[in-house]
Amino acid sequence: PLVLGIESSCDETAVALVRGDGTIVAQAIASQEAEHAPYGGVVPEIAARAHAERLAPMIARVMGEAGIGLEDVDAIAATAGPGLIGGVMVGLVSAKALAMASDKPLLAVNHLEGHALSPRLADAGLAFPYLLLLVSGGHCQILAVEGVGQYRRLATTIDDALGEAFDKTAKILGLGYPGGPAVERLALQGDPKAVPLPRPLKGSPEPHFSFAGLKSAVLRAVEGGAHSPADIAASFQQAAVDCLIDRLDQALERAGPFPALVVAGGVAANQTIRAALEAFAAKHAMRFTAPPLALCTDNAAMIAWAGCERLAAEGWQPGAAFAGDPLDFLARPRWPLDPAAETVRGAGV
Ligand code: ATP
Ligand code: MG
Ligand code: FE
Repeated sequence: PLVLGIESSCDETAVALVRGDGTIVAQAIASQEAEHAPYGGVVPEIAARAHAERLAPMIARVMGEAGIGLEDVDAIAATAGPGLIGGVMVGLVSAKALAMASDKPLLAVNHLEGHALSPRLADAGLAFPYLLLLVSGGHCQILAVEGVGQYRRLATTIDDALGEAFDKTAKILGLGYPGGPAVERLALQGDPKAVPLPRPLKGSPEPHFSFAGLKSAVLRAVEGGAHSPADIAASFQQAAVDCLIDRLDQALERAGPFPALVVAGGVAANQTIRAALEAFAAKHAMRFTAPPLALCTDNAAMIAWAGCERLAAEGWQPGAAFAGDPLDFLARPRWPLDPAAETVRGAGV
């Protein structure tokens, strides 16, 4: 199949056309970094307006460049949550309008499912099941991915997500927004052992995460004035890596073994974290997949791909009728991948 994907849940407006064989036919991403930078973070109202201004011309441009009309598309997939509700509504409503006008099925995609399946777009040989570390701006979870739509959450954060901890650390260090890449760059010049920082929840039997205390420790280190910003950035990053590996170890012990370890979400763009995960996977004789950087941070190819995966899983056939999701499907600010897990802890969805 050929699926049009739309992403608008945070501060990236993105459109992509993806085929079921994993070909990204065309795509475009417009970042709103410049709009939000003066405020030090994403302002929901500004984000929703920017999505509304950009989305329709981007869809027209991507389809035009690919020489593809709505009649050639087999389904229209859009992020329907979780995320900033105004932005999600802009993308979902656009997809509904296109689906209605073209009489093609609408696929309301969970943004986290987009992240969770993106490694299979990048690595065609990656089969189910796999152990997934999902580390993004809003989430920090370990999931057993058993198939399309089959996600079992093994761990989540009890306070901040790891991307959030990177962003807050960047803010404390005066590196501005967005923070993750800036912290990673500064850390290259620092000593990861220079600053003693905590490893929250390390060794605890349940494989959950906690990063609020680490962020507070970074703040104290900066206020203490004894360490260089580069040493603090490098030590923070090392503490984060140690926590990830310790928690993954615990998850493996409780739910493993798994044939593959996969990392997804914006923080997966971090090279130090990727290298540590790769070494961990090798140690446990697991295949390791990390999507290319452009597929880690928010994009529409992963949303279109999640649509392709769903069509395949639900027995879609060319020319045959396929219902998709109802056109009154509502945008969801919260939408856990594993509904059974939502009540495990209050935070982290
Ligand atoms: P979610 O997917 O949970 O809804 P989101 O869509 O905002 O949240 P992503 O776009 O997947 O999150 O990821 C953005 C996050 O990734 C930000 O917190 C950013 O700081 C972090 N990030 C991006 N690049 C890096 C990097 N190189 N190192 C560390 N963190 C990074
Ligand atoms: Mg973003
Ligand atoms: Fe995301």
